Amino acid sequence: MNPDASPVRWRASIGLAVGGGGPVSSIVESEHGSEGSAREWIERKLPRTRPPAWLPAARRADGVELFGRVARGRVVTGRLVPTWESEGTAVWHADRAGDQVRWHRCAAESDER
Ligand SMILES: [Zn+2]
Repeated sequence: MNPDASPVRWRASIGLAVGGGGPVSSIVESEHGSEGSAREWIERKLPRTRPPAWLPAARRADGVELFGRVARGRVVTGRLVPTWESEGTAVWHADRAGDQVRWHRCAAESDER
């Protein structure tokens, strides 16, 4: 284990996908000390998140999807810039379902939703 790594952290992020393709980018991220807190953040934030203004109208027409992701990992310091490292365990994905979110568990290496 890397001695410069933080204790276990959970990273919550909201990602953007366009036109049924894979994730395009992560819009917003937040780090948490517990899985529960990371999932609460997604449950609060995801239903209220709108597609970013920088997304061109032509791409919006392809269909825009926002989704949540919670991954377990550590922040590695002692480098030029602190870096997030996933532990490679399964991640939580969240899809919007009206005002709520629907969770499912996915393999870490796959960014499939
Ligand atoms: Zn998934």
